[in-house]
Amino acid sequence: MGLLSLGTPLDWPEAQALAEHVREHGITQFLNLWAKIKDRRGDGLLWGDEIEYIVVAFDDGAHDARLSLRQAEILGVLAQSDAETRAALPAGRAADIPTFHPEYGRFMLESTPGAPYGVAPRQLCLVEANMRLRRRIARKHLLPHELPVTLTSFPRLGVTDAPFTEPPLEARGNASRSLFLPDEVINPHARFPTLTANIRKRRGAKVAINMPIFHDTNTPRPFIDPSIPRGRDWFPEDAEAAAGAALPDHIYMDAMGFGMGCCCLQTTFQACSVQEARTVYDQLIPVGPLMLALTAASPAYRGYLADVDCRWNVISAAVDDRTKEERGLEPLKHSRMVMPKSRYDSVDSYIAQDPANRPEYNDNPLPVDEKVQARLEAAGIDRLLAQHLAHLFIRDPLVIFSEMVDLDDEQSMDHFENIQSTNWQTMRFKPPPPGGQIGWRVEFRSMEVQITDFENAAFSVFIVLLTRAILSFHLNFYMPISKVDENMARAHVRDAVHTQKYFFRKDVLRARPRHHARDVSAGGRGVRSGTPRGSRASSPTRGTSAVRGTASPAPSRTTSRAPSPELGPVEDEYAEFTMNELINGKGAEFPGLIGLVYSYLDSLNIDVETRCEMALYLDLVSKRASGELMTTATWIRNFVRSHPAYKFDSVVSAEINYDMIKKLDRIERGEEDAPGFLVSLAHERALDLC
Ligand code: ADP
Ligand code: MG
Ligand code: MG
Ligand code: MG
Ligand code: MG
Ligand code: MG
Repeated sequence: MGLLSLGTPLDWPEAQALAEHVREHGITQFLNLWAKIKDRRGDGLLWGDEIEYIVVAFDDGAHDARLSLRQAEILGVLAQSDAETRAALPAGRAADIPTFHPEYGRFMLESTPGAPYGVAPRQLCLVEANMRLRRRIARKHLLPHELPVTLTSFPRLGVTDAPFTEPPLEARGNASRSLFLPDEVINPHARFPTLTANIRKRRGAKVAINMPIFHDTNTPRPFIDPSIPRGRDWFPEDAEAAAGAALPDHIYMDAMGFGMGCCCLQTTFQACSVQEARTVYDQLIPVGPLMLALTAASPAYRGYLADVDCRWNVISAAVDDRTKEERGLEPLKHSRMVMPKSRYDSVDSYIAQDPANRPEYNDNPLPVDEKVQARLEAAGIDRLLAQHLAHLFIRDPLVIFSEMVDLDDEQSMDHFENIQSTNWQTMRFKPPPPGGQIGWRVEFRSMEVQITDFENAAFSVFIVLLTRAILSFHLNFYMPISKVDENMARAHVRDAVHTQKYFFRKDVLRARPRHHARDVSAGGRGVRSGTPRGSRASSPTRGTSAVRGTASPAPSRTTSRAPSPELGPVEDEYAEFTMNELINGKGAEFPGLIGLVYSYLDSLNIDVETRCEMALYLDLVSKRASGELMTTATWIRNFVRSHPAYKFDSVVSAEINYDMIKKLDRIERGEEDAPGFLVSLAHERALDLC
């Protein structure tokens, strides 16, 4: 989660009254920062990952796996041991010690590398070891019956047939007022219960998350969930489920914790300049839904198998603070505007000042705070960036600390970050924080966390290399952003890798003259031996400097962005592809993202061992896309459905859940093979030879 300020959080009516104050000063803070950093250049290509864990407490006697709520104690012990390690290490090395952070769920942990990595392939070989080290450190500081698992959703979070926390707790908290989740599952730092309560109060009702149930052979039709305590009458909100919030044939969830209690895998990239950051941001937008489908790992919620494989829509609905008017269900009377999306949703606009960024691509409705946009433009910010920020600033701040209302806008970014960090989108564009050490960054946020660090490293490294290929070859992935949203919806479908096609740009090489582009794209993975963009990428140094040298000039203001008819209709630029085609290539038609990554690797002089290690990672991504290996979600669904205790009624019982997590742990430790899911142990061991 974002920053954790200390202080007294304001209750919703007081916070709401200060919304305009926060927006206004947030923009002042951004403009003050912008004046200092808009021309910042030359930052190194650094990146880092974030991995989230669920801490499970096993009761082996009872054959049960519950959520441990000891986050605070665990982080305390980790901080203590961290301080000791730092004191014992030479000064230069202390920065490399991994760090652990709190998360929304009191059963969650987050870890990051102690310092960002470089992007050279030799450095990418260290990523998996770093992730494993973090997992070992976390394990070592837990109780003997606890375990950090990188499971995207805990299948029995919020069940009502048995306790799912340790210690057992009743769901009757005033923050979420949930029928299922006790407030004690929320990180007790004042920010989190306040965020939870203020989302509910702003919306005027509890959040309502409905994921379609997976209808198995014995699942009743219609499925009217018997586990919802429909008759409860402790809070006024208790009546919502029976009054229509809980849909038939769906798994109904009513609290922020169901979403923010999910774990993900994020990667953050530093760019050399704001222009490069805007390019990376834009080019990764169409990649987001593909990676969501490929990393899908969360097919079960509140004790049931769902007919979706991933978490995104769950979180989106879990923090949907929009009023009925904002959701377009009632005419506007009290609310400012209709907002088509939750504050946790996919990105709505491309932002790069790039001739390839045709105005037609920004075809999503883009409600903006007009005052904010006018101020930004008056201050010289170009329209694309002004719109991006004015779109984020349609939201209200949710948590305001009374001690943090009047701030020095020259020094603080708190009001800006308040809005920025509660817009949880597929990508995040991060300005340099005050202080000068860190540059412009872009965060890639769609991926689900994987069970093993081999997989987490593989997907992270893939995205890093793809980002390098994008910049080195000046790739063009632009297509209408509404098609990206369509892909986002398709990515949620059960087994989306096999059952769906995805829109993508047909010609991703923008080299001119066009006959050259065709030479390069010919041959699918054969693109490896080609040299995209002529000799531009023939060496890393030349490739990098060439790309930077040609970075689009940054006019301080894009005045008019008229449609570009001379380029032909945008509809001709994209087509539908299978995941296999997109990742592994489609003959002469499309090089495949893996093909582009190999082209990039070929443009570098890397040693055989490094290449061999990169190939192991790329093979995992490639095989998950081709179907040779199944996604985590498919593995979980198959495990549940083939468990002897499963009654084909969609129910994930305590026993099934326990056996599943135990087995995933053995797989993670390399004690057990997982054919069809991961390459064999023998293959894994080959990694150590590299
Ligand atoms: P948040 O939770 O706000 O997304 P975190 O601090 O948890 O942010 O994680 C940020 C990630 O960015 C970490 O992986 C970290 O290693 C990485 N990182 C830190 N500094 C830089 C930098 N200068 N460039 C790129 N990545 C960075
Ligand atoms: Mg996190
Ligand atoms: Mg983080
Ligand atoms: Mg975060
Ligand atoms: Mg993050
Ligand atoms: Mg390994």
